[in-house]
Amino acid sequence: MPPQTLTILGSTGSIGQSALAVIRLHPERYRIFALSAHRQWKGLCEQCREFQPEYAVVGDAKDAACLRNDLRDSNLKTEVLYGPEALCQVAADRGVDTVVAAIVGAAGLSSALAAAMAGKRILLANKESLVMAGALFMQTAKKNGAVILPIDSEHNAIFQSLPRDFSGDWTQSGVHKLWLTASGGPFLDFSAEALTRVTPEQAVKHPRWSMGQKISVDSATLMNKGLEVIEAHWLFNAPPESIEVVVHPQSLVHSLVEYVDGSMLAQLGNPDMRVPIAHALAWPERVTSGVSGLDLFQAARLDFFPPDTARFPCPGLAYAALAAGGTAPAILNAANEVAVAAFLERRIAFSDIFRCIDAVLNAMSAMPADTLEAIQSADATARRLCAAQSGVLPS
Ligand code: NAD
Ligand code: MG
Repeated sequence: MPPQTLTILGSTGSIGQSALAVIRLHPERYRIFALSAHRQWKGLCEQCREFQPEYAVVGDAKDAACLRNDLRDSNLKTEVLYGPEALCQVAADRGVDTVVAAIVGAAGLSSALAAAMAGKRILLANKESLVMAGALFMQTAKKNGAVILPIDSEHNAIFQSLPRDFSGDWTQSGVHKLWLTASGGPFLDFSAEALTRVTPEQAVKHPRWSMGQKISVDSATLMNKGLEVIEAHWLFNAPPESIEVVVHPQSLVHSLVEYVDGSMLAQLGNPDMRVPIAHALAWPERVTSGVSGLDLFQAARLDFFPPDTARFPCPGLAYAALAAGGTAPAILNAANEVAVAAFLERRIAFSDIFRCIDAVLNAMSAMPADTLEAIQSADATARRLCAAQSGVLPS
């Protein structure tokens, strides 16, 4: 078998590095076609030295020039490109079999969509693509024969727990409910009052997972779970009322599928993203990930309880946006990105994240989300409104 050729979008990030860690273990199976980073051209240069891709993509011309110089000094033939168009180009190139979509936020949408349009096998980490443009993304993938393999741990667990031939037909498959597990984040036991005083440093220190800054804050507000409800809706054709969130602080059960006969199938494992990434890379086969199986004797206990919607109201906003439909989830996503950035820059308090997003959702009405332009326009307006919100709120 010839090696699978891969483009890794966002290769310098947490998911990108985990993907390369698995790929490094299997040089005979995988070959890197393209890697990308936004600003971290030095880290990208290191990765190019090791994996020798055909292309490397950075954010702008200045970083591209720096990267070109360093690559030339190392005698590497990797061609350097820059900007959003270049990301789409390396996602859709005929030389690529599989695209790992691991850019953070709305910035990952157009390249993931380009991969769907080109009928690629897509290992999807960028959940924001589905939150913003779920209907468009799924339709585009279907029309062009793209295969979407989720690597978000919960969705990968659900994918593993569904029948192999699952086509989205719940009745035929006997699926009754999807249970998304949530670690609860670093502030699980904090009072509402204590939550108003938490710092960015505390928020990005996740108790179970090591992740990028944005998703770490999303985990702390539980918005991450809200985004994942929307992601599950699109990936598995799941009615919103059949997607339930359960807090499971040990993060060992990565999610469950409940069937009509009362069976609950789950996927368990150590909380390490190399596991779902290895699963999706090799699917339908299996390869080693570098992660050992769970030590059940040491794990000993598994706790489950309902989320506290009063202290953590963000998932409620996501359910409401999903019910409103159209561009509402894109508005939610954009406002969340701006509010999280404002919190990380200490311009707003942790509890203002919810207030900003809520205000933006109330100020805008949902429009049909059937074109990328409509979605990007809603995204831009929501960003402007949220920036104004986060500028006036006391920090
Ligand atoms: P990260 O911040 O660690 O890395 C993000 C990557 O995207 C980097 O390579 C960065 O250079 C690139 N990037 C950032 N802004 C960009 C822009 N404007 N244009 C082009 N590239 C840009 O993020 P992460 O934690 O790896 O998360 C990546 C995605 O995977 C997110 O959508 C996140 O929700 C999802 N995800 C992450 C985890 C995890 O464990 N980290 C788990 C599940 C899902
Ligand atoms: Mg997840």
